[in-house]
Amino acid sequence: MSCDWDVYCRTCDSYMGLSDWNQALDAVRELIAHAPDWVKIWALNQELYHLGLHMERGGRAVCLEFFHEHASHDLVARNEYGRTDGTCGKTWKCHACNEPHRCNRPEGHTGECGLLEPGEPQLD
Ligand SMILES: [Zn+2]
Ligand SMILES: [Zn+2]
Ligand SMILES: [Zn+2]
Repeated sequence: MSCDWDVYCRTCDSYMGLSDWNQALDAVRELIAHAPDWVKIWALNQELYHLGLHMERGGRAVCLEFFHEHASHDLVARNEYGRTDGTCGKTWKCHACNEPHRCNRPEGHTGECGLLEPGEPQLD
């Protein structure tokens, strides 16, 4: 099954828009881990050398400007099904509204899928 990953900004509720980064969670995590470095490289490329720096994985480009626009924001990997890295992501049926919701409890949690339990970090 295809599972494309993207960089998601929780602060702004926006995606970088990576195209077809199938099964690329590790690569997206790596990108995010180095976000402050990409901000510096983007600025260097703009202000000093105009090298036309281009970064990609398997021919699919990374938008370095996204890191500039979302510097110091809360970035996380999220896939095409809406699962945020680190969360369970299974759907569960809510008795309050009778609609399916995505479980935002931590990945590998014990007990039932549902809403965050007291003390669990907000990862979604
Ligand atoms: Zn942002
Ligand atoms: Zn509900
Ligand atoms: Zn769950």
